[in-house]
Amino acid sequence: MPTLVMKFGGTSVANLDRIARAAKRIAVEVANGYDVIVIVSAMSGKTNELVGWVAETSPLYDAREYDAIVSSGENVTAGLMALRLQEMDIPARSWQGWQVPVKTTSAHSSARIEEIPTDNIHAKFGEGMKVAVVAGFQGISPEGRITTLGRGGSDTTAVAFAAAFGAERCDIYTDVDGVYTTDPRIASKARKLDKIAYEEMLELASLGAKVLQTRSVELAMRYKVRLRVLSSFEEPSDSAGTLVCDEEDIMESNVVAGVAYSRDEAKMTLISVADRPGIAAAIFGPLSDAGVNVDMIVQNISEEGRTDMTFSCPTDQVLRAEKAMNDAKEKGEINFHDLVADEGVAKVSVVGIGMRSHTGVAAKMFRVLSAEGINIKVITTSEIKISVLVDRKYMELAVQALHDAFELEKAG
Ligand code: ADP
Ligand code: ASP
Ligand code: MG
Repeated sequence: MPTLVMKFGGTSVANLDRIARAAKRIAVEVANGYDVIVIVSAMSGKTNELVGWVAETSPLYDAREYDAIVSSGENVTAGLMALRLQEMDIPARSWQGWQVPVKTTSAHSSARIEEIPTDNIHAKFGEGMKVAVVAGFQGISPEGRITTLGRGGSDTTAVAFAAAFGAERCDIYTDVDGVYTTDPRIASKARKLDKIAYEEMLELASLGAKVLQTRSVELAMRYKVRLRVLSSFEEPSDSAGTLVCDEEDIMESNVVAGVAYSRDEAKMTLISVADRPGIAAAIFGPLSDAGVNVDMIVQNISEEGRTDMTFSCPTDQVLRAEKAMNDAKEKGEINFHDLVADEGVAKVSVVGIGMRSHTGVAAKMFRVLSAEGINIKVITTSEIKISVLVDRKYMELAVQALHDAFELEKAG
């Protein structure tokens, strides 16, 4: 029997009615002749609540306990989905990550999947089971501890299962009907794309478009998984949603495919550090050891052997970053006058494969922001993207202005 992976995100399993609705969708695919692997998220809001409880109990928490707690939301929906399917006379059972087992690294709260043995679930399909419901977002480390895959990680569970089982397709059911030129929640002119190239989706995801977790796109690209994003609230058809596919499968594409944003960024500046060989390693080594995801880095010109070093990281890692820097200072590994954290910034990026062959995109982006009176604080570029840090209060304006300037309302 061909296998299909169907993933239902938080809003698609937000209550018992929605779970029942998703179960009906699953029943259609069972009737179509598929062995179905269903990956479920926690009910919407649940993971945030669990994360909040952890932070309230222990601000610099033990990441192993964080994972034990935060993974639990998915266990509930997996069990409920299996029960709902059984009520519909569809043979189904649930699996938690460790039962499969979804083997991951021990990088708690951002673990990577290393292996998914398929024998266990295959054997059950062989015995007549029709649907395997798997709790997304979680796995087990070599030490036998529960791990999670980072926020939005159920997408990655889904793609990893699709790759491991050689599924015909991986359908990601969510609360929007596909991938848009930008987040439709903040730009009403955003347009749904019928197709998007893996590489563009990868950049959009890593720059904040949370419709797919970055790692899921990476895996889909590597294992050539046919990945589709579609709404769990609309009647599906063969052409529904957005197909994430190879660049060659897209006939025409814009220079800029989309605009992404990441709201909760912080800009940290170490004032007056010694400008000497090894200083970057002395700063970013401890930050990395402390689990801080440093994104943009700017080293200013130096004066009299001292310089300022600026980097950005997610706002919820500011405490960790400050501790890592102050500890390194105490140990004498680095020396700085002050550490200034600006927690009021956001990152806005434009992405498009067309930038490889078109010049002038950066200049246009800067002109558009300047015309809106938006000050750019940090800039980074790569082959197919340009990102800027701006004051958070201008984030939505920046996204809308760029969407207009690059005429993305004509995409689709
Ligand atoms: P789920 O709970 O189903 O995993 P998410 O909330 O993680 O859903 O992702 C879907 C959301 O991603 C949408 O509601 C939308 O606000 C947001 N989003 C951000 N950028 C985009 C984009 N370019 N296209 C579509 N949705 C986007
Ligand atoms: N429930 C997890 C989260 O909210 C994983 C997911 O939904 O993909 O991040
Ligand atoms: Mg998600």
